[in-house]
Amino acid sequence: MELKILVDNQAKHGFKSEWGFSCLIKGKENVLFDTGASTKVLSFNAEKFGVKPKQISKLVLSHDHWDHTGGLDWILQNNNLKAFVLNSFSEETKKKIRENAELIEIKGKVNITNEINSTGKLSNSIDEQSLAIKTAKGIVVLTGCSHPGLTQILQKAKQFGKIHAVIGGFHGFKDFKALQGIELIAATHCTQHKQEIEELFPRQFKECAAGTEFSF
Ligand SMILES: [Zn+2]
Ligand SMILES: [Zn+2]
Repeated sequence: MELKILVDNQAKHGFKSEWGFSCLIKGKENVLFDTGASTKVLSFNAEKFGVKPKQISKLVLSHDHWDHTGGLDWILQNNNLKAFVLNSFSEETKKKIRENAELIEIKGKVNITNEINSTGKLSNSIDEQSLAIKTAKGIVVLTGCSHPGLTQILQKAKQFGKIHAVIGGFHGFKDFKALQGIELIAATHCTQHKQEIEELFPRQFKECAAGTEFSF
């Protein structure tokens, strides 16, 4: 199982950065999680990785914010796509997807593939879904912005097994003890307390940017 960061606020040499997040999960099926803020950056970075829309069978959008849905036009070039969004997404986003792909509206937890589960809708002020990915090393949790709170997300993801890694945006997360026991922490995108997390978990902390690849 491989994860490739396609869009992030930071980028490795040769990749473009922007405020947004997108990650490709390469397993038995290729699944795209979020699309960044623009088609321009998503398509540029995907091309660097040699990834084409047609190689991706499923799309999951964590939440309905522009910095996660802005690159939709790139992936919707593949008209053989299944797209999983929360039922509370805006009609505008749903309509756009429906015109080009099979739209699946979800509320509770759901299997995206045999290895990838959605936590289902978690809410605070903003509804969001995260992924719990089964790998040889344990569960890898993938988050968009963690608006519902990372503690709640990790709690929910634990039902799928022991959490090995957490990757994505942590937003204003400060409940650092909730990260104890996790082997790999790649706090990125909108994470506000990145430095504290790195200081508290120096061995587990991994730099993450567009162009970063993880394998589990
Ligand atoms: Zn957001
Ligand atoms: Zn975001």
